[in-house]
Amino acid sequence: SSEGREQYDVVVVGGGPGGSTLAALVAMRGHRVLILEKETFPRYQIGESLLPSTIHGVCRMTGVAEKLAAAGFTPKKGGTFRWGANAEPWTFSFSVSPKIAGATSHAYQVERSKFDNILLEHAVEKGAEVRFQTSVSDVLEDGERVTGVRYTDAGGTEHEVHATYVVDASGNGSRLHKRVGGTREYSQFFRSLALFGYFQGGKRLPAPNSGNILSVAFESGWFWYIPLTPDLTSVGAVVRRENAEKIQGDPERALLALIDECPLIKEYLSDASRVTEGQYGQLRVRKDYSYHQTKFWRPGLVLIGDAACFVDPVFSSGVHLATYSALLAARSISSSLAGIVSEEAAFTEFEARYRREYGVFYEFLMSFYDMHVDENSYFWSAKKVTHNQHTELESFVELVAGVSSSEFDLDGAESAATRMKSKSAEFVSAIDEMSADAEGNMTPLFRSSAVRQAMQEGAQVQSRAFLGEDLGPDVPMFPGGLITSDDGMLWQPGPA
Ligand code: FAD
Repeated sequence: SSEGREQYDVVVVGGGPGGSTLAALVAMRGHRVLILEKETFPRYQIGESLLPSTIHGVCRMTGVAEKLAAAGFTPKKGGTFRWGANAEPWTFSFSVSPKIAGATSHAYQVERSKFDNILLEHAVEKGAEVRFQTSVSDVLEDGERVTGVRYTDAGGTEHEVHATYVVDASGNGSRLHKRVGGTREYSQFFRSLALFGYFQGGKRLPAPNSGNILSVAFESGWFWYIPLTPDLTSVGAVVRRENAEKIQGDPERALLALIDECPLIKEYLSDASRVTEGQYGQLRVRKDYSYHQTKFWRPGLVLIGDAACFVDPVFSSGVHLATYSALLAARSISSSLAGIVSEEAAFTEFEARYRREYGVFYEFLMSFYDMHVDENSYFWSAKKVTHNQHTELESFVELVAGVSSSEFDLDGAESAATRMKSKSAEFVSAIDEMSADAEGNMTPLFRSSAVRQAMQEGAQVQSRAFLGEDLGPDVPMFPGGLITSDDGMLWQPGPA
């Protein structure tokens, strides 16, 4: 019988940035939301370098932006890269749109245990309920429709909870993503492995770039160097997957050997010591971290964030994609619950916009890898788009064209390959032009269409949150597509 059964409008699996953003947005519309989180917060997570659209766009919409501003995170004005033909590091800053320049053209470097906790507490403040140490094992179904989840509590007792919508925001280790149908496709191009840890006393870039992420290409791959606090630095090496054995054997020795290979990182860490206690005390490894699910939703179930897809960490897109997909899915859920548009239309819109954003970053990141040339390096020569696997481009085209072929006007992998090559060339020359400018003028980078496109939707979300209605109406992405409501919280039918 259905007597005494627990019923919510929305059950969110996972309280990371994707899950808590979605929960806050849907709760703000007055719906009953339950978050089930496997761990107890605060908990460790990787993904510390953020993009401005997360902070000034989505987090402004949920109202958590002020709490983040007060938390004392390191302001990040942009990225500094030793990457490409130029031997000198070059810097680009986040001044995407002159309309929103100034106070909002920065992001943060965050300790994720603190950041994720602030977002989750904020969702609770907005009306969501949260249960920790609850591990979701499967979905409940009624025919085609997902109607809830089964979970185990801290004491090992199994429970069922019903919901009109289940949101899988449980990250890369999701146990539910398969239940949406389709498969998780792993990228061959971005097949690599990261080894990372934390250091005290590392050097800082000179002001005003001291809060920037520093990314350094070297023969075996590339390093990230993220200033989390004045004293604490997150340091990680991304290398080919074939290095796994070496790294798992003795991670400490492997990391030191990689640092030795990379003079700039070695110099920045010359007075530093590795943190060996607490949440930052261990070296960690992550592999195979670029993939996308071939379907993002079915009736009653939707995937967001890393549960749906992830692409390579080099441009800090992970938390952006998690919070942006949370915003898209929240609009779909709230509009569908309010009966404004059909469920089918609402989630088709979600999937189309999410795939477009993922696709833009995917393509941008391929160009970014393509621009670094090292003929003698196995890692870098495998990353040349020009002699890249055809299949990768084909699956990229399928990925993006799947929902919205009219938008992309791609007639097959061949044209995508041509486009990719010209984009990389344009991208490289934009970088060259920029690094040639002694004044540090950043505009040429944004003249590259690859970068402009990658930043466009984020800037759009940011402008909307910042300027509200002044932005003017949204345009449908495809014929019959939906548009965003003025407050950004819902979909509405496009112009007839
Ligand atoms: P998560 O942050 O993974 O949160 C998922 C939550 O679900 C967790 O709290 C987990 O405990 C919970 N959960 C899992 N399973 C269950 C279950 N069965 N039941 C209940 N709860 C469950 N991104 C950036 O933006 N910037 C970076 O610099 C960056 N660097 C990265 C470096 C590396 C090496 C990697 C691998 C990733 C990096 N990322 C980066 C990506 C970033 O880590 C993720 O994209 C981001 O954390 C995704 O957020 P999420 O909310 O989807 O999932």
